[in-house]
Amino acid sequence: MNHPLTCLILDGKAVAAQGEHDLSARVAALKAINGARTPILATILVGDDPASATYVRMKGNACRRVGMDSRLVALPAGSTTDEVLAEIGRLNADPDVHGILLQHPVPAQVDERRCFDHISTLKDVDGVTSHGFGRMALGEPAFGPATPTGIMRLLAHYGIELAGKRAVVVGRSAILGKPMALMLSNANATVTLCHSKTVNLEAEVRRAEIVVGAVGKPKFIPNHWISDGAVVIDAGYHPGGVGDIDLDGLASRCAAVTPVPGGVGPMTIATLIAQTVDAAEQAAHPTGQTD
Ligand code: NAP
Repeated sequence: MNHPLTCLILDGKAVAAQGEHDLSARVAALKAINGARTPILATILVGDDPASATYVRMKGNACRRVGMDSRLVALPAGSTTDEVLAEIGRLNADPDVHGILLQHPVPAQVDERRCFDHISTLKDVDGVTSHGFGRMALGEPAFGPATPTGIMRLLAHYGIELAGKRAVVVGRSAILGKPMALMLSNANATVTLCHSKTVNLEAEVRRAEIVVGAVGKPKFIPNHWISDGAVVIDAGYHPGGVGDIDLDGLASRCAAVTPVPGGVGPMTIATLIAQTVDAAEQAAHPTGQTD
């Protein structure tokens, strides 16, 4: 049955592009007060995963579009935890670096949690430290993980009502599903967080007014599970340009849908850049928070 409403296409690419004008102006203002020093987003990439290398390149391009710089610290695949910690320490101490990103996933021998928690809270622009995550969960000011924060910004841009809505998030990773559920709860949605042990996932998805797919499996959520009138957020991206939800036909009966590609992905990068500019502004005008 078709739902009698017009579906909003949540165009992350366009929203991200619009935001770059404002970010460029903020970066220019920072350079003016910092003796023309350019704010830097630093990325540590351990190993040679081709998908990670592509993401790092896209982030570097986005930095340059707003007048910022990016720095890549490429470490060999066999690096130890101590070697990664040492690089993070150097970036923590570098006053030109305002955002630090440790590209996930790192090779198995590296203790990712220890490395994440070594990032200065002031430079944790991807919200990966335990401290930053805790503050975000409590609704305190903090940099949130870039993907769910980007999704919240996209929902806000389009004025999507969240309070009192039944939201179902499928996937509970620390960078995406879990913080997404907390952010939606903080925005007063009633949230169910599903995972691989969820019994009858179909029933959970069917009663959702807001569905977030964050599973990491192409078209894992069939389109017929999605209710008419739902808001559909697909965080997945797989070869062939498909996401974690089968989006076929949803635009004719849902309230809002993120395209894949061009929905969540551009908002993730835009959020990382925006949070690095925030960090640079906070460094220029400290308010007393310490790490
Ligand atoms: P992840 O760490 O692999 O987590 C996947 C989650 O899905 C886990 O919580 C897992 O449950 C759950 N899951 C797996 N099989 C399931 C099943 N049969 N039923 C229900 N839940 C199941 O993945 P991630 O890093 O969060 O990424 C998720 C997706 O988002 C991927 O497609 C990724 O490419 C995409 N992503 C996009 C961006 C972007 O910028 N656009 C950024 C990050 C990620 P358990 O916890 O029980 O194992």
